[in-house]
Amino acid sequence: MVGGNYPHCEDIDVISGARILSVGWDPEVRYDIHIGDSKIKNIVSQSAGPSSYTTRKVLDASNCLIAPSLCHAHIHLDKCFLLSDPEFADLEITKGDFDEAMEITSKAKVRFQRNNLVKRGRWLIAESIATGVTHMRAFVEVDYIVRMKCLDAAIELKKQFAAACEIQICAFAQEPICSGTQGAANRELMEAAVFNEHVSVLGTTPYVESDEENVKKNIDWATTMAADRGVHLDFHLDYNLDGSRNTCADLVAKQLESMTLYQRNRPSSKKLTVVLSHCTRLTLHSEPDWQALSQRVQNLELYFVGLPTSDLYMMGKPHNHEGGGERVRGTLQIPQMIQKYGIQGAIAINNVGNAFTPYGSCDPLSIASMGVGLYHAGTKQDARLLYECVSNRAIESIGDTSRPFTIGESADFVLFDLGGSESGLLSSQRGRKTLQEVLYDPPKERKTIFRGNLITT
Ligand SMILES: [Zn+2]
Repeated sequence: MVGGNYPHCEDIDVISGARILSVGWDPEVRYDIHIGDSKIKNIVSQSAGPSSYTTRKVLDASNCLIAPSLCHAHIHLDKCFLLSDPEFADLEITKGDFDEAMEITSKAKVRFQRNNLVKRGRWLIAESIATGVTHMRAFVEVDYIVRMKCLDAAIELKKQFAAACEIQICAFAQEPICSGTQGAANRELMEAAVFNEHVSVLGTTPYVESDEENVKKNIDWATTMAADRGVHLDFHLDYNLDGSRNTCADLVAKQLESMTLYQRNRPSSKKLTVVLSHCTRLTLHSEPDWQALSQRVQNLELYFVGLPTSDLYMMGKPHNHEGGGERVRGTLQIPQMIQKYGIQGAIAINNVGNAFTPYGSCDPLSIASMGVGLYHAGTKQDARLLYECVSNRAIESIGDTSRPFTIGESADFVLFDLGGSESGLLSSQRGRKTLQEVLYDPPKERKTIFRGNLITT
């Protein structure tokens, strides 16, 4: 049973003797990281030998690698682990396509109850924190089926984990809001949800609308509403590999330009971002198309979040190519978009344990690690970029700031604990000394520090 002091938070003054895995830091040197008021106060090298502290709360990290904490730029809190919850055991995957995923999930949603939502959500948050996650954008659906149940459960979880993880709630319309018999009802509920004080993101799914006209209406309604309310905006966009259809990314960029959305209603301290995810249609873009998109988004707070596990699963189905040889898969080439086109981006888990994505864990590093093969990104520079895509770049995409290992920044870290004696002949633990090694084969043992507290779930 979860007690009143859950999750456990232990205040730390100094993280002692860790090797820093971040740009500009010597991986051969051990450092003491001093923390005050939840922020990094100082970082001191141990080149003259280990420091000794007698009175302060010291975390011995002499056998740890320390890196910026991790972030879920995109995760569905309400429909996680449906496939491992006995309450939904009858809702099995039999075909594995998108329509079935929608159907199974809609059936599950009819049965959603607060206790069940909180239970599964807690699994997701606790497992995520254990991997090093300190920030997440949590999507919860609002529509005629669930009404405000998912949102209410998310608010309860946000409060429960406030000392352990920054949970940003996205009120999300997975269902149509401009077409179909329930479109108007869904839109009305979303309008109410977005005014909830705990909601800081508005999300919709233009591709589920009945036709192109309603796709445009969906995007138009969401951008206007997000601007009026002063919340972040997040679209599930373009979930197809059909070259005869238009991409919506241009549409969104054009709309943002014309509305100058983020010049309006923005207090100088609050950065609002727009995120486009899936966008599988963009994988059919030619070089000139990419150059044009790159030009168009340069001055916008627009981020692309790749969701490779879901994209591979949904796009990998053979369709008409039953022979098996030809299976086109499409997922955004996020590292290339960043490096070649200067487009801002991150990668994320999206779903765990449901019909949209039955496989995978809550560990963002598992996605980054998969990226080595997926994006053919095996170099030292690639490893750094992939790590950033699930840490500071992911945090920036959801509107927060993160300058790793900078004095005055929030003390949010993940420590990779190597256990045992790092170089002793008797140790059976294989040490890792570089970020590449961490990416190629992420260590299991980790410690999570959020705002200067060691978090245990
Ligand atoms: Zn999603």
